[in-house]
Amino acid sequence: MTVIVDLNLCQSHGQCVYAAPEVFAFDEEENLTYQPEPPESQHDRVRAAVAACPVRAILVSEP
Ligand code: SF4
Repeated sequence: MTVIVDLNLCQSHGQCVYAAPEVFAFDEEENLTYQPEPPESQHDRVRAAVAACPVRAILVSEP
């Protein structure tokens, strides 16, 4: 699984951080950071984050 967040769309509301806190986080300046290749154990949470993002900024590709 590969994750890309369109940071131009992201409005930093944090639903993804709530859904998958081991993959998505905010840095000290409130910018979103994330793991681009999260481990298998996180994939369901990442899918939940995709569904939760109100601006559909999270793109996931799965082989
Ligand atoms: S849920 Fe979407 S808009 Fe909110 S912080 Fe995550 S990527 Fe950004």
